[in-house]
Amino acid sequence: MMNFAADMEDAEYRDRMRKIADDYDWPAMQRMRAEMQSLGVEKYSIEFYQRIAKEGLVGLSWPQPYGKGVPFIRAFLFAEELETQGFGGYALTTNQRGGGMLIRSGTDEQIRQHLPQVVNGTWRFCQGLSEPGAGSDLLSLKTRAVREGDEYIVNGSKLWTSNAHISDWTGLLVRTDPEASRHRGLSMLLVDLKSPGIEIQPVWVMGGWRVNAVFYDNVRVPAANLIGEEGKGWDVVTGNLDEERAMSFGGTETRALAVRLIHRLEGMADQLSETDLEKLGHFIMELEADRLLYLRVALAAGRGDDTSGIGPMSKVFGSELAQRFIQWAADVIGDEVLFADADGSEDVLASDMEEQLRAATVLTNIGGTSEVQRNIISNRYFKLPRAY
Ligand SMILES: Cc1cc2nc3c(=O)[nH]c(=O)nc-3n(C[C@H](O)[C@H](O)[C@H](O)COP(=O)(O)OP(=O)(O)OC[C@H]3O[C@@H](n4cnc5c(N)ncnc54)[C@H](O)[C@@H]3O)c2cc1C
Repeated sequence: MMNFAADMEDAEYRDRMRKIADDYDWPAMQRMRAEMQSLGVEKYSIEFYQRIAKEGLVGLSWPQPYGKGVPFIRAFLFAEELETQGFGGYALTTNQRGGGMLIRSGTDEQIRQHLPQVVNGTWRFCQGLSEPGAGSDLLSLKTRAVREGDEYIVNGSKLWTSNAHISDWTGLLVRTDPEASRHRGLSMLLVDLKSPGIEIQPVWVMGGWRVNAVFYDNVRVPAANLIGEEGKGWDVVTGNLDEERAMSFGGTETRALAVRLIHRLEGMADQLSETDLEKLGHFIMELEADRLLYLRVALAAGRGDDTSGIGPMSKVFGSELAQRFIQWAADVIGDEVLFADADGSEDVLASDMEEQLRAATVLTNIGGTSEVQRNIISNRYFKLPRAY
């Protein structure tokens, strides 16, 4: 039988996270929630991110000297514990994704310039891929970059750029050659978001947080900020997307919410119908299956295996499970959820559930929709012909 228990060494960074969590009493957690609300971001506290960066916990699995070179499984257990303890994991994943792109595709100089600043929590990254007419069909993107001497001049707009308003840099997928095939005409640039000509406007989503529309008007980007080769941006972005799909999309936070709900229901089993009790048991099994699926992806990624076929399985299962669970849980808790005080001052669990009820709606969209993920699974995992 396979043993999934973490050995003592694997648990080292999980235990570090538990120690950090001890420093956050309820008033400190409330301050963190208020910070996220004022920034309009979800699961992203700059203060907390800088704290874990100070403790050397960003980029754990990156090679030394920039990261700690620890096995993927330990980084996984750390990130899982972070979410289980109620800290938003988004800052860690999104900034590590920016750094991961540089490790995979950046020049030595780009790595030297940026990674220390990511690891110490100074620079933050976002991802500018989607446009008003290019989401699932990213290859339709129109934002244009024209080379002029040592610079690219960028014109166009991006939509849905999460965290652009609190980031320093964006990975920007642009069209450098409109004549080339849709794949070959794209390039990836690293753009300083303080550059003249950039305007960032808020777009509020149902979960209550902010994504952004970002406009680029004759923005000058040093040619040295090209990531990978000109015309090979698609190769760079597929690496980013594989990494994104291998993230947890709702599973870990849903497990934490389920545990809190079970505590709330303690002693009330006789008030739940047989059907609801059975359903709860079923959800617990599914949440465990989700964890194992995610763990499988993390272990495969750690071995350097291709995760492009199994990452989307974890993404689809976790995100759809998160939606199903919160809809059921809201029904069980009833009015309390629907009319919860949104600022959390009355009933924190009910308030969190109400927020999750809204927030979970985007989980099957962000990072690529379930339909698109299923297409990828059938093509990359089952080797079926492309459906699109
Ligand atoms: C909260 C949030 C945060 C986001 N953050 C970012 C970010 O930081 N950076 C970024 O670049 N993007 C971001 N996105 C964009 C996200 O990646 C896209 O919304 C997503 O890829 C879907 O694209 P679309 O919205 O254009 O929908 P469309 O592509 O127009 O899809 C519309 C519908 O058609 C279906 N569909 C489309 N193509 C196919 C197909 N081939 N087969 C079957 N069905 C299909 C879709 O499943 C969907 O149901 C974010 C989105 C949200 C909602």
